[in-house]
Amino acid sequence: MTPDTTTPFGIYVHIPFCRARCDYCAFATYTDRDHLMESYAAACVTEVERAVESEGIPQATSVFFGGGTPSRLAADLLVSILDAIPRAPGAEVTVECNPEDAEAARFATYRAAGVTRISLGVQSTVPHVLVGLGRRHGHDAVVAAAGTVAAAGFVSWGMDLIMGGAGETDADWEQSLRDVMGFASAPPHISAYSLTVEPGTPLAAQPDRHPDDDVQAHRYEMTEEILSTAGYNWEEISNWSLPGHECRHNRLYWHQGEYRGIGSAAHSHRDGRRWWNVRTPDRFVKEIEQGRIATAGDEVLSPEQVRFEALALGLRTRDGVPEASLPEDPDLEGLVDRRDGRAVLTVRGRLLANAVSTRLVPEVSA
Ligand code: SF4
Repeated sequence: MTPDTTTPFGIYVHIPFCRARCDYCAFATYTDRDHLMESYAAACVTEVERAVESEGIPQATSVFFGGGTPSRLAADLLVSILDAIPRAPGAEVTVECNPEDAEAARFATYRAAGVTRISLGVQSTVPHVLVGLGRRHGHDAVVAAAGTVAAAGFVSWGMDLIMGGAGETDADWEQSLRDVMGFASAPPHISAYSLTVEPGTPLAAQPDRHPDDDVQAHRYEMTEEILSTAGYNWEEISNWSLPGHECRHNRLYWHQGEYRGIGSAAHSHRDGRRWWNVRTPDRFVKEIEQGRIATAGDEVLSPEQVRFEALALGLRTRDGVPEASLPEDPDLEGLVDRRDGRAVLTVRGRLLANAVSTRLVPEVSA
């Protein structure tokens, strides 16, 4: 059977290793399991091979290595997983990378293997904010990393920033944005996330370090103003890019596309079913090595859920939703722009996206 490569299909590979734990992070990642790296990579290869054989997964139009810190894995181990993944011609392949891992040799290995995008986890360029976030790199490491990414020949790449770290001022946030846009090698894609307080993290136990909602809303509005003035188009709540530099893999998620997650804690979505793997790398390696699947749970989406989620996800993007799927309601005034049959969030609406999505009327779009 010839695999269908016309429909987008993504592969997400979770790499659950980090050097140190950032105190705001609730991701499934570990600082004390480096000894598992080789067996973990081998188990990921096996999971891919089984998915090809028994699930008939199509060639991937996008592959995304996320984590954790994918660049923590030796480049040849990461490439061993990538090599096992059937890819469509011209597939986008992204690797998340910490600035301290931005090395020419690593990037050369990635490029030779078909990696097309780097996503650098920068968070801030302001030293005291980086310290407050518990990040180990400094401003100079960010500048150097940007240069190394561009010198390696990556045309499309991005930087992630976080607003609202303890001690960050509006001026600090603006400086981070202007710094990254002003680098000799400026990223064509910028993600700007609001720091969120995740239950159970060390940050959650320190209320004096929690970001203020009004301050965050103001910084979000600053972000839109500064980035759009510089030519970055808003794509989705937290993502902006220069024309032609959208992340294909992100768009797949935002448009309810199908994807297969590989590795511990990875989620998959195919044929109206979602499932997720066991959370720890130890369990994942054990299940795979013993010939079992690594699935920890699943759910089948009802047609109503599918329709609602499609709208809720679409609402968060610049494409918006069909106009008729949001009622004419004074409460939505100023939150939604209606034009050409579409309803798209305004900047203020983006700050209240979850509240607006409760007003969606799924049956209208059916
Ligand atoms: S580097 Fe990223 S994944 Fe790792 S602990 Fe920090 S925020 Fe979490």
